[in-house]
Amino acid sequence: MEPKEEKTIVLIKPDGVKRGLVGEIVSRIEKRGLKIIALEMVWATKEQVDGHYPKDVKWIKRVGEKTMATYDKYGFDPVEELGTDDAEEIGKKVRGWLIDYLTSGPVVKMVIKGIHAIDMVRKLVGNTVPALAEMGTIRGDFSVDSPIAANKGKRGIHNIIHASENFDEAEHELNFWFSPEEIHDYDRAEDDIMF
Ligand code: ADP
Ligand code: MG
Repeated sequence: MEPKEEKTIVLIKPDGVKRGLVGEIVSRIEKRGLKIIALEMVWATKEQVDGHYPKDVKWIKRVGEKTMATYDKYGFDPVEELGTDDAEEIGKKVRGWLIDYLTSGPVVKMVIKGIHAIDMVRKLVGNTVPALAEMGTIRGDFSVDSPIAANKGKRGIHNIIHASENFDEAEHELNFWFSPEEIHDYDRAEDDIMF
């Protein structure tokens, strides 16, 4: 693939939209030199969110493992908090809460294009867990939630933004959320200067 053609998907989640962070997030992406080639606000259905997130056991287990690693770091017992220390079971619970969270308000969906767009946007976004996200990242600067608090309330971690993690996720999400005619190509003024 032509390196400048790499595409990734961003969703500003309902907490990001309701907190008025759309402009800030768009601005950070644009300033990095990444190009927004599609953008729309939608109120997703449960079916859409279910189709957006992976369903494979590997992804579900990884979500559970990430959750348990945070429990471990802060000295909480997953069995006490969640009734289990089975990564797959925890992952499944989280996936259900995520669907409620992502449908609790509108989301802003975007396609972002540029060199290493997937990794660059993940870097702008920061760690999944706001408490672990570096300052200077979107999650680190604007969110404070933690899986421990979220799981107690049986809800998704409010971390403002979603971004595709790898090429396969990006490709799936691109085809899932956008049709080809919704994606627009154009030159940015600095294209010739920056790379
Ligand atoms: P990321 O969004 O950084 O790619 P994941 O793909 O691992 O993270 O998880 C998807 C989303 O699920 C996270 O952004 C977060 O909103 C939510 N989430 C992850 N773990 C938990 C958890 N233990 N409790 C509640 N929500 C969670
Ligand atoms: Mg993810």
